[in-house]
Amino acid sequence: MTKATKKKSAPRRRLGGAALFARARKALVGGVNSPVRAFKSVGGEPLFVASGAGAYLTGEDGRRYVDFCLSWGPLMFGHARREIVAAAKKALERGSTFGAATLAEVELAERIQEAFASMQLVRLTSSGTEADMSALRAARAFTGRDLVIKFAGGYHGHVDSLLVAAGSGATTLGVPDSAGVPKAFAATTIVVPFNDTAAVEAAFRKHKGKIAALIVEPIPANMGVVFPKDGFMADLRRITAREKSLLIFDEVITGFRVCYGGAQTLFGITPDLTVLGKIVGGGLPLAAYGGRRDVMSMIAPEGPAYQAGTLSGNPVAVAAGKATLDLLRKENPYARLEQLKEYLCEGLRHAAIQAGVSLQIQSVGSMFTPFFVEGPVTDYASALKADKAAYGRFFHGMLKRGVYLPPAQWEAAFVSYAHGDKELDLAVRAAREAFRAV
Ligand SMILES: *Cc1c(COP(=O)(O)O)cnc(C)c1O
Repeated sequence: MTKATKKKSAPRRRLGGAALFARARKALVGGVNSPVRAFKSVGGEPLFVASGAGAYLTGEDGRRYVDFCLSWGPLMFGHARREIVAAAKKALERGSTFGAATLAEVELAERIQEAFASMQLVRLTSSGTEADMSALRAARAFTGRDLVIKFAGGYHGHVDSLLVAAGSGATTLGVPDSAGVPKAFAATTIVVPFNDTAAVEAAFRKHKGKIAALIVEPIPANMGVVFPKDGFMADLRRITAREKSLLIFDEVITGFRVCYGGAQTLFGITPDLTVLGKIVGGGLPLAAYGGRRDVMSMIAPEGPAYQAGTLSGNPVAVAAGKATLDLLRKENPYARLEQLKEYLCEGLRHAAIQAGVSLQIQSVGSMFTPFFVEGPVTDYASALKADKAAYGRFFHGMLKRGVYLPPAQWEAAFVSYAHGDKELDLAVRAAREAFRAV
C-alpha cells in the first residue's frame, strides 16, 4: 500500500456536535438557515447532516440515523433515489439556468394539471412561501379586496401578512406574531380556529365584502397532523363561493402525498387556487401555484399583478420534480406507504401504553404526529396542550438510538418508500426504551 492510499483510507475526522455548532454560530444566524433546524424546541445541539441514502441520514458525527423528518416532506422516495439524481444530473450538465422558457417547464406544468384538474393555469416558483405570497396577490388582484382569512396554527410560509397565528377572539383582527411585520400588514389577516364553521361565518359577516380569500391547509400538518371534521372543507367551499371570496388550498404538504391529486381529490373539493411545494420539486427548490384561469390571468405577463423569479422553473429543479412525479405515477406507492405508517404508529402506540405515556398519534397517509397529550387534537388550541418538554425528551431518546424525528412537537413526521420493516422495527424498539425516560 502506498502512503497516499493509506492516508485516504484513514478514518474521517468526526466533528463533535458542540464544536461544529459553535463554529456554525459564528458564521450563520443561530448556526442554521431555517430556525427549526437549531433544535431550540427540543434543546441540545442540532444534527449536522453529511449525506442521505434511502431511509438513512449520516451525520457529520459519523453516525447513521433512520430519518422520519425527511426534509419536512419532499422526499417520498427517501434520499438520493437513483432516477431523481440521474434526471437532475443530466439537466445540470445541459446548463443550470437560462432565464428563458424551456420545454421541461411546460411538461412539469402539464403533469401538475393532470394531477390537479383545478389548476387550469400554473406558475412555478422557487419556494412554497413565494407561491403562497403570490397566490394571495392573485386573489387580491382578482377580487379587489384586501383581507385574508387563515386558521390558527396554519402555516403558509413566512409571508409578512401571514405570520399571524392566533388572535385572541375567534374573529379578532390579527396582531403580528413575528417582529418586523408592520401592524398594518398583520391587520389584513383574520385568524379563526380550525374546524370552526361558525367562526368562519362570523368573520365573513363582520368583514362583509372585504375578504379576498380564505387560505387553508386542507389537512393541517404544521401544528402537527390535524384532520378536518366531516363537511368542514365543504363548508369552506360553500361559504367562500357565496361571499365571492376565493378558496385557496395550501397543499404544499398534502399535494402528491395524501394521494397523487392531493387533499382536494381526497375530499372532492375544487378550490379556486392551489399552492404546491416540497414533493413537486423532488427535493430541489421548486414550488407552484395555480388555479382558475380567470384568477391566474391576473398575473403578469397576462395581467396587472407582478410576480417574477430569476430561477423560477429552474431546469435542474424541474427535472427532479418531473422524475419524482413520474416515479409516483409508475410505482404508485400510496397503499404501501399507508401500511408502513400504520405499522409504525401501532408499534409506537403500543410502546407508549406499556410505558404509561399519554400519547395521541394522528396520521393521514404517510404522515403522522405523536402528540404527547390526552384526547384528540382538532385545532391549534388543543394542539398547544401537548407536552413539548416530553416530546423533547422522547426526541433525544430516539436520536440517541439512531432515529431522527422532526425536532419539534408541532410538526408532521413522514415515512418514505425507502423505509421497510427493518427501519420501522428499529424505531419501535428505540421508542420502547425512549418512552421510559419521558
Ligand atoms: C413548507 C410549507 C410552506 C412553505 O414552503 P417553503 O418552501 O418552506 O417556503 C407553505 N405551506 C405549507 C403548508 C408548508 O408545509
